Amino acid sequence: MGCNLAQMSEILEAVLAGASGATLASTALPATTRAVFVRRDEQEMFAGLASEDKDPRRSLHVDEVALPELAPDEVFIAVMASSINFNSVWTSIFEPLSTFGFLDRLAKESFWGRRHALDYHVIGSDAAGVVLRAGSEVRNWSVGDEVTVHCNYVDDQDPSSHEDSMMAGNQRIWGFETNFGGLADICVAKANQLMPKPAHLTWEEAAVNALCNSTAYRMLVSRNGAPVTQGDKVLIWGASGGIGSFAVQHVLNSGATPIGVVSSQDKVETLHELGCRHVINRAEKDYRFWKDGHTQDESEWRRLGKDIRALVGDDPDIVFEHPGRTTMGASVFVAKRGGTIVTCAATSGYMIEYDNRHLWMKLKTIKGSHFSNYREAWAANQTIVDGKVVPPLSAVFPLEETGEAAYEVQHNRHEGKIGILCVAPAQGLGISDPELRARVGEDRLSIFRRHDAR
Ligand code: NAP
Repeated sequence: MGCNLAQMSEILEAVLAGASGATLASTALPATTRAVFVRRDEQEMFAGLASEDKDPRRSLHVDEVALPELAPDEVFIAVMASSINFNSVWTSIFEPLSTFGFLDRLAKESFWGRRHALDYHVIGSDAAGVVLRAGSEVRNWSVGDEVTVHCNYVDDQDPSSHEDSMMAGNQRIWGFETNFGGLADICVAKANQLMPKPAHLTWEEAAVNALCNSTAYRMLVSRNGAPVTQGDKVLIWGASGGIGSFAVQHVLNSGATPIGVVSSQDKVETLHELGCRHVINRAEKDYRFWKDGHTQDESEWRRLGKDIRALVGDDPDIVFEHPGRTTMGASVFVAKRGGTIVTCAATSGYMIEYDNRHLWMKLKTIKGSHFSNYREAWAANQTIVDGKVVPPLSAVFPLEETGEAAYEVQHNRHEGKIGILCVAPAQGLGISDPELRARVGEDRLSIFRRHDAR
């Protein structure tokens, strides 16, 4: 362990000094890495508890784990920073399923897949860092490259992955359905997950975008989702949250009008600063879409519809859905005739109910969406690289406190995204294009940090 610490310090020193790829390649790798993981023998630890009582601070451990052998199409990355995603919460509370089942299935697929079925699952689906080693089949990336990592984990020998890799039969989310994820000092990623790190951002700003931005991009920009056009009105639930804050920016960049829904005055102000003029505070409005656990109230859907019309004069062309059971009935109701409800999640419950008459009689569409393919993730990353979309970083925690950070997200106490410092010894490092940073503006880059109300 002492030896590993010394080796990690040497790697850190080399990265901070901007060492060449050759120098980094000759720096020894440790045999183990510090990492955040859940344990197979604790899968049942929360049995019988309500979801909100399942505590990530108890199930997420931080300790040294062995580095696996590197496959030919993979890289080791020194993770300077990572982020909390909602899937980190799902894994930590073993809902809706324990993720060890995913690892066991992956293990059955191939020689390299077998490495993943361990008694611990290293989680994390975002990372920004530096390539430390590249397998023999890695062509476009070299040791020393500064990268961000998207989480679409694809078997490129599977024919079904070749039109749109999100349609692949065995498509997976890295660090959720695979082991060796980004919440670690050293992670393992496939070469086809890598993207250039935005040069004007710090490590922690660069680490919080790939998963949520790519998801929002596919839902609202890509032709695979419900692409927004100029003049559209788009209702965005959780508009200052992880995916919502990217959705707002993509809608604004498309020349369309977002109507954000949030649950506090602080969040209303965050969205105003981001450029979203029309915001509904759902806490203030106190919508009661459900009368009880089984019955919805159409008059409450209608009240939301009226509030939207009062703001923008029309019904939404697109509804950006992810809360799920609580809101889906309302989302289907308020969408415009011919409109689309695009959904990627169901935070409040996945057994959904809506009134189908409003769907068919008004020719509406419900469109499912999930993460993004490499092309979409790359295009989404480019919006960050160009400074057209800003990272919604609101807070940063050290790797040791990942459990606390996940707890904040589980209980909806955060705005935007929470970053995690891994190898980076402090915040504020990693900027290599200060001119672009100045053009984007510190004010704009720090909107979510200024409004973090926790
Ligand atoms: P997040 O940062 O927690 O933001 C979600 C926001 O949704 C919250 O800030 C909250 O905003 C709002 N919300 C939560 N419960 C609600 C409810 N019952 N009614 C109305 N609004 C509610 O999470 P996220 O990263 O944006 O992720 C959101 C969901 O999408 C999660 O379930 C996540 O697993 C999923 N997701 C899926 C994919 C995919 O590829 N399929 C990718 C990313 C995320 P207010 O309280 O301010 O209204």
